[in-house]
Formats: sequence, structure tokens, C-alpha cells
Amino acid sequence: MAYLSLAVGELDTNCYLVYDEAGRQCLVVDPGDEAERIAARIEAEHLLPQAVVLTHGHPDHLGAAAALMARYRIPLWLHAADEAGMRSESGRGLAAIFGVGPLPAAGRLLADGDRVAAGDLELAVIHSPGHSPGSILLFGGGLLFSGDTLFQGDVGRTDLPGGSEEELRRSLERIRLLPPATRVLPGHGPESLLERELSENPYL
Ligand SMILES: [Zn+2]
Ligand SMILES: [Zn+2]
Repeated sequence: MAYLSLAVGELDTNCYLVYDEAGRQCLVVDPGDEAERIAARIEAEHLLPQAVVLTHGHPDHLGAAAALMARYRIPLWLHAADEAGMRSESGRGLAAIFGVGPLPAAGRLLADGDRVAAGDLELAVIHSPGHSPGSILLFGGGLLFSGDTLFQGDVGRTDLPGGSEEELRRSLERIRLLPPATRVLPGHGPESLLERELSENPYL
């Protein structure tokens, strides 16, 4: 399993292309904006997108989702709580601030313990509410796609609709149990190692 990342949009959201190196099947994680630039990278690397997967339903993580879904005829996968949240009145209000319209319905609603796969790559879904009710982590192959739950030296805000500091604390407790050598790939900012976060991140 391999990945590459592009920082897209006004908030420099990390869009990750996670792929099976041999077969080139790929999951597009958090295509926040700049669909053309993401597509150019997909095609330059000869990747074969299988689905758009969202770590959560905030507009800075999905602004390019509809365009990529149409271009590659691929489905949208996200946690049920954020599928509902992004279609709620407050979710639509937040999306409007980013100029993001409604997405097609999710093809698959993810839950804790699920697995997402493309070719030989497989990632476990860990529900991690706190930043949003339907935030998830994707974990596998020594990688943790942490969305806006965990950043290098910081954690996601909990003051947006559906956010909860207490739930975030519980989600971080689960992250603490993962192998320290896990590479942390956040929704914004630089990557890190879990062992570094365990020693330097005040929230862990
Ligand atoms: Zn967010
Ligand atoms: Zn974000």
C-alpha cells in the first residue's frame, strides 16, 4: 500500500490518494478542492480510483468530491452520522460558506469496525467522534489517516455543530492504543509519527 498527498483549497486540506502499488486501484481520501489538480495527479500516476472516502463531512474535505465521483463514476463512502450532518440545516450552512453544493447520496455508510478496500489495500474504519459526530480514522499498513481528529501537535476543534470535547477525548484514548510506529497523516498540516505525538502532543 502506498499513498501520496496534495494540499488543496483555502485551508490546505490534505487530500490523500491511497493505492495498491501493483494494481493501481486507489481510494481518494478527502478531496477538499481543486478537482482538476487531483485528477491530473491521479492520471499522471496511472491510478484507478475506486471510491471517494471522507474522514468526515466538513466542506473543506469534500469540495472536489462531486466532480471526481462524476469523472471516474465512483461512489462516496463516509460515516452515517456525517452523511446526515452534512445534509442538515447547519451542515448545508457550513457548506454554503465554502461554496460547496450538496453531494450525491453516499453509496456506502461506514461504521466502526468496517474495512474499506481497493485492490490489495485494506484499511480499518475507526469511528472517532469529537471534531464531528461522524469523524473516522482509517488505519492499516502502518498508516493512520486521522482527518481533523489528530494533527501534528494539536487536535481538531470541537466547537462546530455536533462537536464534543468529551467524545474527542475518548477518540484520542483509542488512538493512544495504536502502535507507536504508526505514521499519522492528518487532514491538515504535516505528517507525524504516533510515538512523537504521544510524547509531544499535549492532547495525547
Ligand atoms: Zn473538519
Ligand atoms: Zn478540515
